[in-house]
Amino acid sequence: AGTDDEHDPEGATLAFERQHTAALLAQALEQIAEIDAAIGRLDAGTYGVCVRCGQPVGQDRLAARPAAATCVQCARVK
Ligand SMILES: [Zn+2]
Repeated sequence: AGTDDEHDPEGATLAFERQHTAALLAQALEQIAEIDAAIGRLDAGTYGVCVRCGQPVGQDRLAARPAAATCVQCARVK
């Protein structure tokens, strides 16, 4: 029940829900890509090193964002 988008009075809500879910999914996939990249850097031995300037990302930043690829300074520039 309630799967008919075009004629169901709940149609607009369903479309919105789908869009919202798609946005959340895209966000989740982005985070997974970030984590995958971080794991790649772990394997390569470059984890915790800023990919942009080569300086340490920093313990505090890694604690807050374990998948961070750049230091705070470079993240601001971006
Ligand atoms: Zn940097």
